[in-house]
Amino acid sequence: MNDIFSLADELGPLKVIHVHEPGIGLQGVLVVDNVARGPSIGGVRMAEDVTTEECARLARAMTFKNAAADLPHGGGKSVLVGDPKMPRAQKQVLIRGFCRALEEVEQYIFGPDMGTDEECMAWVKDEIGRSVGLPREVGGIPLDEIGATGFGLSQAIDVAQEFCDFDTSGARFAVQGFGAVGKHVSRFLCAAGAIAVAVSDSSGTIYNPDGLDVDSLIELKAAGKSVVEYGAGEQRNGDAIIDIECDIWIPAARPDVIHENNVHRLNTKLVVQGANIPVTYAAEKTLQQRGILNIPDFIANAGGVICAAIEYQGAGEAAALAAIEEKLRRNTREVLETAQREQILPRDAALAMARKRVEQAMSYRRWHIF
Ligand code: NAD
Repeated sequence: MNDIFSLADELGPLKVIHVHEPGIGLQGVLVVDNVARGPSIGGVRMAEDVTTEECARLARAMTFKNAAADLPHGGGKSVLVGDPKMPRAQKQVLIRGFCRALEEVEQYIFGPDMGTDEECMAWVKDEIGRSVGLPREVGGIPLDEIGATGFGLSQAIDVAQEFCDFDTSGARFAVQGFGAVGKHVSRFLCAAGAIAVAVSDSSGTIYNPDGLDVDSLIELKAAGKSVVEYGAGEQRNGDAIIDIECDIWIPAARPDVIHENNVHRLNTKLVVQGANIPVTYAAEKTLQQRGILNIPDFIANAGGVICAAIEYQGAGEAAALAAIEEKLRRNTREVLETAQREQILPRDAALAMARKRVEQAMSYRRWHIF
């Protein structure tokens, strides 16, 4: 484990708290990175191999993600050691014990992450009253059900088309990963007149240059089937989604799927990152050189975290969608304009924007250095 002092810089972390209750096998860490913009929001990750260093890096990523989304929240993260598939009763004891131990750290709001879900957040709410990503019955806005992230992606695309030479209406798109994010962005794009020419899931790709019926694909997935079982199209392997000729290419599955060795295969005008870190930094540079516009993950897929922040304010679904629309459009435009003006990568423009927002907020603090 890295010494925590070596991870500290001018932005944070503000607090690092180790929680250890041997009696129930509880061991975890909370990192509150930066709260200049407001109390930190970040997920609780449960896995057997989590570390303090990983937690600190993820907390910093949340500082930038929340600032980039223009939320009144800082960044934090917590990790809990354990197998997320442990018996529910045991998991409940650990989650309840963990949040109870951190009850007084009001600068951190618990959210779901890998290994935790909305039920875990309901336990946290019951215990200390401070969590987001809740079930509907206790005030949650079910973001995967309403398609918060997919809706945000469609808004980012609507702004980005002005920077490309196509219109969303009539644009052809391909989606890698027809899950919660992929199916909703497809639905919103089709409603705007775009045409789905290919989608993929873990079983393969389905392609039809005349267009796929997204509602039928959603029904297939709901029935527990794969998109490749859709009748009216050509079945290809999973990797083939990369070569599809289209206007908009949307990765919505796994990290690092586009890298230096395959980025040349993309045949599109716009890449919109639904998944987290689906394109390596080197590949993003190549996209820029090839004149392919690219909207980085923490700008494009911020719909989920915006939804969580609105939920925390006690507002409902309509307010969440309005906030996603307003923030995604403004942030996408700002990032793409800066990238164009300064001839830099959209990711670098987004990071600079987020950092500046954090530094400005820090300038109002008592012990400010900016
Ligand atoms: P999901 O599990 O609902 O869907 C993932 C889909 O990807 C599934 O259909 C799966 O079959 C498919 N898939 C898996 N491996 C694949 C592969 N190699 N090739 C093609 N398809 C593959 O997950 P999700 O919630 O839609 O999240 C997708 C990505 O978006 C993840 O990286 C997640 O971190 C990110 N993300 C999600 C949200 C959200 O609101 N759900 C918000 C921000 C970021």
